[in-house]
Amino acid sequence: MGDFIHDHEDYMVTVPFSQRPVIILGVGIIGCAAARQLLLSGFHVVVVAEFLPGDQDIFYASAWAGAAWHAAGGISHEYRCLQAVTHRHLSKMAQEEAESGVCLVNAREYLEQAPSENSSLWGKSVVSNFRELKPGEYPSSFNCGWSYDTLVTDPTRHMPYLGKQITALGGQIIRKRVESLQELYDMFPESSVFINASGLGSRTLKDVQDERCFPERGQNVFYRTDECRQMYFRNGKEYTYVIPRPLSQGVVLGGVRQQENLSPEVGMDIARDEIARAHRLAPDIVPENPPEHSLSYIIGIRPSRQGGFRLDSEQIGRRTVLSAYGFGGGGYAFSYGVADALVKMVETAECEHIL
Ligand SMILES: Cc1cc2nc3c(=O)[nH]c(=O)nc-3n(C[C@H](O)[C@H](O)[C@H](O)COP(=O)(O)OP(=O)(O)OC[C@H]3O[C@@H](n4cnc5c(N)ncnc54)[C@H](O)[C@@H]3O)c2cc1C
Repeated sequence: MGDFIHDHEDYMVTVPFSQRPVIILGVGIIGCAAARQLLLSGFHVVVVAEFLPGDQDIFYASAWAGAAWHAAGGISHEYRCLQAVTHRHLSKMAQEEAESGVCLVNAREYLEQAPSENSSLWGKSVVSNFRELKPGEYPSSFNCGWSYDTLVTDPTRHMPYLGKQITALGGQIIRKRVESLQELYDMFPESSVFINASGLGSRTLKDVQDERCFPERGQNVFYRTDECRQMYFRNGKEYTYVIPRPLSQGVVLGGVRQQENLSPEVGMDIARDEIARAHRLAPDIVPENPPEHSLSYIIGIRPSRQGGFRLDSEQIGRRTVLSAYGFGGGGYAFSYGVADALVKMVETAECEHIL
């Protein structure tokens, strides 16, 4: 053991910070986006995860997201900035990287009540072509409505795209389940920065055991249709959306949040209710009784956290441990903003290392 520490300290002296890989646990949208942004900034990156891009386990949330960019209500200015940065990156991908699965679509958002002070209205400073709908342009049962352009990400394309990009940029992806962060420290004794992007995994990792993390089941209906360029979003107590997926020729109908149910089986009552709500919201896209052969079902477990997500840096011994998990239903909307924030944290660790 003494020899090991001695060797290791020699290693630290001889290998410059920038050449020691940053180790990321988890390769969902958060770990992937972080890996991409770190690699683009010139860092070496190794990602370790049980589920990888292209996998389809219900506990791998990133495979199942809607995934629309929608401004969240009730969040701080700092968090709004994270969403704005994400919007900027996704816009560029939509324009320049067709393979990324990101598309620009028009959104119509109908509000049950007049927007409160801390509503999602701040999003109008980020999206393009925002305008308030005139009465008659939205159903009379709503208080008001907005139209704007926003971004949708098709996870069936985006995750494999990111997986390929990470490898092409020189990153390494290792499939492995670990039981603790310590296991990673032991695997990579030379590394000084570790990022925990393990989503719900943070509830069970032995040296994290974050009891605020909890699973929140989502179940959506995918309806195959050529009418797939318009988003609808009901803003209020009822949680209903129609999210277009132009590259997969369909729309995602939702949604539902369930804390006690982790079933991988399709709940047909939920599915029927989602179709009915989507039909009421967007009758021009979703018929009352879509043909069975045009329907399929999406089930995923959101990695939620009481009090919201963690995005922070801790010094644990000589290691810098960054936590980025607990994104619940908003991981895609925050992803690239979080990734850029993590790059800055790694750069801070790099600067602190300089004599
Ligand atoms: C139905 C549905 C609809 C959604 N719609 C939207 C939407 O419209 N917009 C939006 O922004 N978000 C949406 N989301 C939420 C979004 O999917 C999540 O917030 C996001 O995917 C979380 O990403 P993550 O990287 O934190 O976690 P995950 O994607 O769950 O990835 C976690 C990673 O950590 C790894 N891991 C965990 N524990 C361990 C361990 N012990 N050892 C090794 N590896 C481990 C896993 O294998 C995986 O690679 C939706 C989610 C669902 C289910």
